[in-house]
Amino acid sequence: MAVHDDPRPRRTFAVISHPDAGKSTLTEALALHAAVISEAGAVHGKAGRRGTVSDWMEMERARGISITSAALQFTYRDHVVNLVDTPGHSDFSEDTYRVLSAVDSAVMLVDAAKGLEPQTLKLFQVCAHRGIPVITIINKWDRPGLDPLELMDSIEKQIKLKPTPLTWPVGVSGDFRGVLDRRSGGFIQFTRTAGGATRAPEKHMDADEAAEVAGEAWESATEEHELLSADDADHDQTRFLAGETTPVLFASALQNFGVAQLLEILLELAPPPSDSPGLDDVVRPVDGDFSAFVFKVQSGMDSAHRDRLAYARVCSGVFERGMVVTHAGTGRPFATKYAQAVFGRERSSVELALPGDVIGLVNASSLRVGDTIYAGEPVRYPPIESFAPEHFSTCRAADTSRYKQFRSGIEQLDQEGVVQVLRSDLRGAQNPVLAAVGPMQFEVVVARMEAEFKAPVKLESLAYSVARRTDAAGAEILAGVRQVEVLERSDGTLLALFPDIWRVRSVTRDHPDLLLEALPASGS
Ligand code: GDP
Repeated sequence: MAVHDDPRPRRTFAVISHPDAGKSTLTEALALHAAVISEAGAVHGKAGRRGTVSDWMEMERARGISITSAALQFTYRDHVVNLVDTPGHSDFSEDTYRVLSAVDSAVMLVDAAKGLEPQTLKLFQVCAHRGIPVITIINKWDRPGLDPLELMDSIEKQIKLKPTPLTWPVGVSGDFRGVLDRRSGGFIQFTRTAGGATRAPEKHMDADEAAEVAGEAWESATEEHELLSADDADHDQTRFLAGETTPVLFASALQNFGVAQLLEILLELAPPPSDSPGLDDVVRPVDGDFSAFVFKVQSGMDSAHRDRLAYARVCSGVFERGMVVTHAGTGRPFATKYAQAVFGRERSSVELALPGDVIGLVNASSLRVGDTIYAGEPVRYPPIESFAPEHFSTCRAADTSRYKQFRSGIEQLDQEGVVQVLRSDLRGAQNPVLAAVGPMQFEVVVARMEAEFKAPVKLESLAYSVARRTDAAGAEILAGVRQVEVLERSDGTLLALFPDIWRVRSVTRDHPDLLLEALPASGS
């Protein structure tokens, strides 16, 4: 039986971090632990590692970041675990935000030596906004790092989440002896392995044995553990699920230490898939009729399968391949003959999927990010908010004889949410304006338009940095206003573009009745 046909309970989560904190290493360690992939490194197409997820994104390899999304599924004890991958670069925070709509919890990696980094803070905000419980891993504990109490303090102060460590390091920074399991009071000993190639043996001992083996280090860890308890830093499941606290583990992904503990915690504490709130006060019970939510659309992942995939998270019911479902947006039937489980290069047909699972629907050209598909009783999930773009560029076909390809390429990238595409009568349909949260999104457009659609483009950046939502009346007024331009996004939203926030303020002063609504910010 394939993993995705397994009826056991699910845990669906994402690993998020600032680049270089160890996300790929942890993903590989988790996969290795569950023996899903035979060779570590087959997960991401990183420089110097074997295996690649995408062939069109040469850029991804050059920069050593992962842009493509994948869902890794494996069984662990009596559960099926779904790890949904997220992009590593902050320019793709909108992508990360979409992925987070598909998970029930997130694992946040923090580099022990670097502490909280800009992307860490951003991602924590995104999780808070989405109401996703977060488990924190202080990674790279095998080498010198910051003081653990100070790290806890900065999480509490900067992120406003109360850290509730489940384990506590024994031994000072750089001389890591293991961790105190704060709930059992036992000791999990760390043994360094050469090269970290094999799994570090984790030896469990009781407190008496630990005191003998680790002496003073054990004693001071015990003292700090008591300090933490006095400071209300013990795990509390209700507060964790309410997004008030974050359980913390100390780990070394490279040495495979803490990986088994993380899996145990995910099974024990992370929330399972639950009922999903839809529009119009409809709540879909998790065990009701089938429904799923498209959180990512992507094409050209692999030259062997150059097609278009819509990734959907199953929200309720049972998915069976071949079932005909309804596309909530259009009310049209949608055939699911080609449902697949996708991870990296690997694809296999999905016969059955349960809530929490991610299915890849092949050549689903009618599906867009944010769409709902369902069987039985109708349900429609709320759309994913688009972030406020801060970078704008005109875009035209470099070779006018390729205009048809240019148009279909831009439409495809728009539907995938690679960039937002804006148009106006003034500029004409052939000259859209691209809007992005981070400038690297433009590089993706340039690379993919050339490689995938054979329609190279020329981009020219525009001197706008702020977008506000307006309406038809507003557009009319703004048509006569200097330094401001109104364009229509493909979802019908009218966006007024301004060079800076001061111009927004002066226009608001001159036209107090004008609708100028701020869009959700990316957290920057
Ligand atoms: P990502 O950008 O978050 O995916 O980070 P990577 O997994 O690529 O890791 C970045 C670097 O940190 C690599 O050189 C890893 O070998 C190293 N690294 C990851 N985890 C650990 C760890 O637990 N201990 C140590 N010492 N190095 C680590």
